[in-house]
Amino acid sequence: MTKDIRDTLALTDGVEHVFMASDPRVFFHSRLPKADVQTFLTDTFEPDELEAITDYEVVVLTSADWTPQVEGTDLAITCVQCENEVNDDGETLRLDGELYHLCCPSC
Ligand SMILES: [Zn+2]
Repeated sequence: MTKDIRDTLALTDGVEHVFMASDPRVFFHSRLPKADVQTFLTDTFEPDELEAITDYEVVVLTSADWTPQVEGTDLAITCVQCENEVNDDGETLRLDGELYHLCCPSC
């Protein structure tokens, strides 16, 4: 059920990040047009999902920083030139607003 709740949140307008904890708890970051959490929950979830939510807490965030890290994920970046995997020696260049990754300076 926690997974259903997570999946529902992930598809909900205004929800930007969803995290699942091992407890299990679900955390999400959302921009609510009105700070009406009760209405948001009843509008978003199916009745059985709502019933599974035993408790919730709302924290108003004053700022957020997000620093995506490539390292430690399964995401491999490949060189646009030779299709090798790009590692720490890789180069990144920006052309016409697009980011391109190269595995080595000679590429
Ligand atoms: Zn290359």
